Amino acid sequence: MEIRKGIAVSPGIGIYKCLVIDAEDYRIPRRSIKSSQRMIEVQRARNAFKSAIAELTSMQTDQGKIKDIFAVHLRFLHDRSLRKRVTDLIHGDSVTAEYAVSTTLREIASHFSRVKDAYISERAADIYDIERRVLRQLLGSKCEDVQHLSEEVIIVARELSPTQTAGFDKNYVKGLAADVGGRTSHAAIVARSLGIPAVVGLEDFTESVAGGDIVIVDGNRGIVIANPDEQTIKQYESYQQDFKQLEQKLGEIKEKPAVTRDGVRITMLGNIEFPDEAGLILEKGGEGIGLYRTEFLYLGSEEEPTEEDHYKAYAETLKVFQNRPVIIRTMDLGADKYTQNKRFVREPNPFLGLRSIRFCLRNLTLFRTQLKAILRASALGDVKVMFPLVTNIQELMQTKMILHDVMEDLDDENIPYDPNIDIGIMIETPSAALMAATLARDVNFFSIGTNDLTMYTLAVDRGNEMVSTLYSSVDPAVLRLIRTVIQDAHKSQIDLSICGEAASEPEQVMLMLGLGVRKLSLAPPMIPEIKQIIRSVTIEECNSVARKALGMNSERQIATYLRNAARGVLPEAF
Ligand code: PEP
Ligand code: MG
Repeated sequence: MEIRKGIAVSPGIGIYKCLVIDAEDYRIPRRSIKSSQRMIEVQRARNAFKSAIAELTSMQTDQGKIKDIFAVHLRFLHDRSLRKRVTDLIHGDSVTAEYAVSTTLREIASHFSRVKDAYISERAADIYDIERRVLRQLLGSKCEDVQHLSEEVIIVARELSPTQTAGFDKNYVKGLAADVGGRTSHAAIVARSLGIPAVVGLEDFTESVAGGDIVIVDGNRGIVIANPDEQTIKQYESYQQDFKQLEQKLGEIKEKPAVTRDGVRITMLGNIEFPDEAGLILEKGGEGIGLYRTEFLYLGSEEEPTEEDHYKAYAETLKVFQNRPVIIRTMDLGADKYTQNKRFVREPNPFLGLRSIRFCLRNLTLFRTQLKAILRASALGDVKVMFPLVTNIQELMQTKMILHDVMEDLDDENIPYDPNIDIGIMIETPSAALMAATLARDVNFFSIGTNDLTMYTLAVDRGNEMVSTLYSSVDPAVLRLIRTVIQDAHKSQIDLSICGEAASEPEQVMLMLGLGVRKLSLAPPMIPEIKQIIRSVTIEECNSVARKALGMNSERQIATYLRNAARGVLPEAF
C-alpha cells in the first residue's frame, strides 16, 4: 500500500483499477529489464520501425501536401542514427523498447520545439506523430485507447492537458491522479466541471503504480492510495457513502433561491467549457452562464472552428438559457491552451506571452470570425461578450473598435444582432486591477478571474505543484487588489462578478460576500454547496469576516480564519 498526499482539485472518491497513460494516451511501461532481455527488446524495436515503415508505405497517396508529410516521416523512420540511439538506450539503460523509443523521439521533438525558426519548431509535431506510429506497433493490442474504454478506471498520468481531460468519458473515468498540476490548472478545472474526483501534484506517483493496480483517489482530502489493503478500502467506501449523502442533501436545495438569512439575493451562474455543460448548470440550480470558455472549441479538433461552428455552439447554450445571461468569453488561447497544430510550438514564457486578448489582436481573422458569431447569437437571447486578460486601456479600445467594425459588417449584410450587447472584461492581472476605475468607464461589467489574478500578483505558476503552497487567492496582496476592483466597479456602477475558482471555494464565500460581491460564477457541481453556505449566513456576518480577514497580514492566518468561519456554517463540507 502506498499513500500519497497531493492537491485536491475535484471532490469525490473513486476506487478502481488504474490505467497509467502518458501525455498521448498511450501506456508506456516504465520497466527496467534484465540484461539477458536486452537483445529481445532491440529486436522488438527494429521490428516496430520496420512495421511502421510498411504501414506508411502502404498508405502512400497522390495528394501533394500529405505525400510530402509521409515522405518526411519515412525518411525519419529510415534514419540509421535514430535507430542507433534507440538501441543504445536499450543496451545502456536496460529499458524496454517502448520506453527507449518514446524517450528518444521526445528528446528530439523537444529539441526541435525549442528552435526559434517556426518551420523547424513545428516539425516537433511530426516527431510526436512518428512516436505514436512506432509505439502503436510495439504496444499492439495492449495499447489502451482512453477514448474507448469499456470498464471503469482511475486514470494515472504524469500530466493531463485540458483537452485530454475534456475528452474523458465520465461514465468510465472515475478518478484522476496526476504527477503535475495545481488547483487552478485548466485540466483541474475541467475535471471539476465534469465531476470526476481528481488529485494532482503527486510528484512521481506514476512511477510507483502499474496498470491494473487498485487505486483510491480521494478528491476531498487530496489523497491517493495505490494497492490499498482491505481495511483501507472499507474506510474509503464509507467516506464515499457519506459524500453521496451530502450530495443528495445538497441536491434538495436546488429549487430554493440563493438568498442570505437577512434577505440579500446572490446570483449564481456557472462556468462551462462545452455547450452540453449548460444543462448541468440548470440541473444544479444555476441561473445562467457567467463564463463560457470558448477556446475549447479550438482545442478539440485539428481544424479551426468556422463562424457556423461558433454560432451553433452558442445557439445550443442559448436554448438552455433563453432569457438568462450567457457571458461568452472570447478565446483564451496560449499559456497552457494551444490549438492542436500549435501545441508543440512553445514560447519561452507562455503565461507572459502571446495569450488571450493579445493572441486575438494578432490573429484578426480568427477573432473577427468569433465576434461575428457571438454578435449573431446575441439576437437569440441575453448574450454578453467578455474579453480575457485585458492589461491596459489601449487593448480595450482596440478590441472595442474591432467589435464595432464587425457590427458594421453585419449591418451591411442585414444580419440581426443586439447593438447594445453588454461588453465586459476579465480582471486577471494586477495592472487591470490597479486601473479598474479607468477601465470601468468603457465597459458594462467586470468579472474577476482570481485564477490568473493570483498567479500574476504572486508570481506563482498556477499549474506548478512545486510552488503550489505559495499559490493562494486569499493572500493579503490578492485580497487588496480584489477589494480595489470591487470598490471601483461599485463606484462606476457597473456589474461585477467573480468567475475564478475562488467563487467555488466554500471557505471563501463569506469573504467574497463581505467584500461586496453579489454575483458568482462557478463550476456547476459546486453550485449547491456554495448556495447552502449563502443560505446559512447573513451579510452582516460576512462583512465582519471580510473586515477581520483584510486586517490580517499573513495568508496562513487568513486561510485558517476563513476555514474555521466556513466550518461553523457548513461542517459537513469539511
Ligand atoms: C481566471 O483566470 O480566473 C479565469 C476564470 O480564467 P481561466 O481559468 O480560464 O484562465
Ligand atoms: Mg484566466
